[in-house]
Amino acid sequence: MPNRRLVGGIELGGTKSIVAIGYDDGTILEQTSLPTIVPELLIPQIAEFFRSHRDGLGQIEALGVGAFGPIIVAPKAQNYGRLLQTNKPGWSNFDLATALSSAIGLTPHIVTDVASAGIAEAALGALRGYDLGIYLTVGTGIGGAIICYGQPLPALLHPEIGHIALQRHRNDVAPSCCRFHANCAEGLAAGPAILARFGQSLSHFSVGSAEHNLIADYLGQLCANLVLTLSPQRIVLGGGVCKTPGLIEATRAAMLNHLGDYAPEDVESEYFVCEPALGQDAGIVGALCLAELEKPSPVIALRRA
Ligand SMILES: [Zn+2]
Repeated sequence: MPNRRLVGGIELGGTKSIVAIGYDDGTILEQTSLPTIVPELLIPQIAEFFRSHRDGLGQIEALGVGAFGPIIVAPKAQNYGRLLQTNKPGWSNFDLATALSSAIGLTPHIVTDVASAGIAEAALGALRGYDLGIYLTVGTGIGGAIICYGQPLPALLHPEIGHIALQRHRNDVAPSCCRFHANCAEGLAAGPAILARFGQSLSHFSVGSAEHNLIADYLGQLCANLVLTLSPQRIVLGGGVCKTPGLIEATRAAMLNHLGDYAPEDVESEYFVCEPALGQDAGIVGALCLAELEKPSPVIALRRA
């Protein structure tokens, strides 16, 4: 593979971050895991990782980053790569792009962490060969990425699919776990909502139980909304909650129920809603693949008023 380039990848997570050196086809050569401490301490550690492998592996030529958000990812935005308000101490309004550029000497290509995993699935996994796919992760929150021709769809900020409002079940009076919305998908069906409502994770409940059915129905509603809005060719359901046995199948059935008969035939395929093909490495593999991807032009160039 003579055309592979040596690149760096960073998966900036809420509690830990993965840093890797590899090829832009997603091959990992070296990686390390670092606690996501305040940026003033973390960024030098990341730079040191790349420096320490320069003699053995060589100089990285590009840098891809999948970061927790909210973060400005529109490439032409003046504040590209800047985080917005976040609960993570020290990270609110942090200019990640500039900090990485000056510490490492390369302009990073930054997307959200979920987009990074989606890029990896498009390059090497369950979304490979599809022009338009959606990658959803259901865990401590619900995140989503719309992957078009292997890249996240250009956007104003980035999709916040987890905050789409759902129709709450009549008998479901549990408080929402989202501090912004009373009836959004994340507030009703993410891991914390499941724990608060049932006192334990969904894997304790059997397929077909009321608890299992409720969460499958909420996720099915979410998928139905996405089918109607974007008409994706495939939806991948990742994250800890989606590892619950039978949940993906039950979600697919609930999605079809909410769509009625109003969907293309392919949506009825058992493969339309599916599990990820890549494991926990998807985020960092996506960051490596991302490093060499051409930055898409936004639909609208953002200007400051
Ligand atoms: Zn919400």
